[in-house]
Amino acid sequence: MIIMDGGKKQELIYLQNQILECRMCRDTFGFEPNPIVLGNNNAKIMQISQAPSKSVHETGRPFNDISGRKLRGEWYHISEEDFYNPDNFYIVSMAHCYPGKASGGGDRRPPKVCSKNWLSREMELVDNEIYVIIGGIAAEFFFPHEKITALAFEDREINGKPTYILPHPSPLNMKWFKDYPEFTEKRIPEIREKIHKVLGRQI
Ligand code: SF4
Repeated sequence: MIIMDGGKKQELIYLQNQILECRMCRDTFGFEPNPIVLGNNNAKIMQISQAPSKSVHETGRPFNDISGRKLRGEWYHISEEDFYNPDNFYIVSMAHCYPGKASGGGDRRPPKVCSKNWLSREMELVDNEIYVIIGGIAAEFFFPHEKITALAFEDREINGKPTYILPHPSPLNMKWFKDYPEFTEKRIPEIREKIHKVLGRQI
């Protein structure tokens, strides 16, 4: 179906339907992809992370795992209701699908074809106020050759919009959090304040 409206809202809905039907990586993955899409074109925050986990692949709900609980509960201090409200967050990753396990352990890197085909167009169609970038792979995409350890402590911009960079909240990153306690103690409260302000919440 071709949408003649031309409005960004309708264009995004059309694009999201195309993403949900995408199976480009089926052969690479060796299993049926399950694209995850959540958010409206008027979402206030565009959150861009690495790729869905296996648990997200199985449930179809982004950040429905231990990383998501840390992100919402310990970092953002917001409810599930606020997090999954598509007018609040546009939740997207460098790949819309769980890419499978890598031979050396951990998950495979997100296929580049996904960000090339879908993410850049989603970014044009979502009228977010701020970006939150999560994890080294997403940070590297937007800020190549820069270290996430430095980026995590800096206010940056993408497309002229304020951008905050978080290391991945995964338990696999525990050492980084221990090595940089000032991130949890000082930087997270600053980023939380920006998020609550955009959402119109009092801390
Ligand atoms: S990861 Fe992206 S490009 Fe690959 S099948 Fe999923 S939606 Fe399509």
